[in-house]
Amino acid sequence: RNAIEVRGVSKRFGIGENAFKALDNVSVTIRENEFFTLLGPSGCGKTTLLRLIAGFDFPTEGQIMLHGQDIAPLPPFKRPVNTVFQSYALFPHMTVGQNIGFGLEMLGKPKAEVKARVDQMLRLVRMEALKDRRTSQISGGQQQRVALARALAPSPKVLLLDEPLSALDYKLRKEMQSELKRLQTETGITFIFVTHDQEEALTMSDRIAVMSAGKILQVGAPWEIYDRPADRFVADFIGETNFLPGTLGAIENGRTTVTLSSGAMLPATLAEGYVPNGPATIVVRPEHARAIREGGDLRGQVENIVYFGTDTHIHVRLDDRNLFTVRQQNSRSRDCGFVVGDAVGVAIAPDGAQVLKD
Ligand code: ADP
Ligand code: MG
Repeated sequence: RNAIEVRGVSKRFGIGENAFKALDNVSVTIRENEFFTLLGPSGCGKTTLLRLIAGFDFPTEGQIMLHGQDIAPLPPFKRPVNTVFQSYALFPHMTVGQNIGFGLEMLGKPKAEVKARVDQMLRLVRMEALKDRRTSQISGGQQQRVALARALAPSPKVLLLDEPLSALDYKLRKEMQSELKRLQTETGITFIFVTHDQEEALTMSDRIAVMSAGKILQVGAPWEIYDRPADRFVADFIGETNFLPGTLGAIENGRTTVTLSSGAMLPATLAEGYVPNGPATIVVRPEHARAIREGGDLRGQVENIVYFGTDTHIHVRLDDRNLFTVRQQNSRSRDCGFVVGDAVGVAIAPDGAQVLKD
């Protein structure tokens, strides 16, 4: 079943010549029970889309359906949707327990029911011991848990999370990532999670929508977004990518042979929906290439070597002056085997090259 269906939604701020289109004909379907992520750079319209779903603002055009019904007539508090904000927005003078129960009390729930639900939520986010603390006296990570518990307490059908982890330091963020994933699985609530962090999106989501400048460019499972980016923006934004100029050969069954500037010919897959017209961009992920002494599909010189613990990035200045990054796994017994200045070949894996929309 579909939880949320966004149909041809545009949002303009301002009027006439000064109008700014924050969302431009966005359509996307979010399934029930899904951990769905909106991923894109700052300013691309993520918060605007969440605000429309929550009912804090209205679309200029288009519709938003919840379980098949247009929710336009419903004010925010009547929508079975709740939001966790980046700033948490807790009440500092109230205790942890009072914060979690606040929404339920506003809904006029009986005292005993509120208490039972608060206790249940405290267990869910593992905060039982801090029930009577004021929220001004707990850590950032704990405040985050309280904000989650408070948002989950009224049992929303959909939880909207607007960059909820961005205020936390690296270690705590990692911890809260798996915590959020656990909460989503345990409660079965549909999560719509917003982030500008591609790693966060890849590790947490069932599906991801990649956004840029008010548009959704691609929707898919993390591996689809990473392995089969639809266009140049997605390939560039998600992970690291090498872009190579080249010419396409004959196309057959979504595959072709590309000729690189070195004259080397490579088999390549075409991105879904790719229509050949004009010059093509060929992309190769760094882990789909190897640096070798002799031969290779491309030749160049080692410009820089960056050690990352688990792997090493070798930056190669190709003979055509483009820069190419190779990522090699490290083994315990030896370094990458090259030094800066070495003449080097780049060998691209048999399925490593793809042709994209520019
Ligand atoms: P994101 O959350 O992806 O960073 P936003 O949805 O907050 O982006 O904003 C998208 C664009 O819309 C930005 O350029 C922002 O400046 C603009 N915008 C957002 N809200 C308003 C508003 N109330 N009035 C005018 N412009 C706005
Ligand atoms: Mg935002």
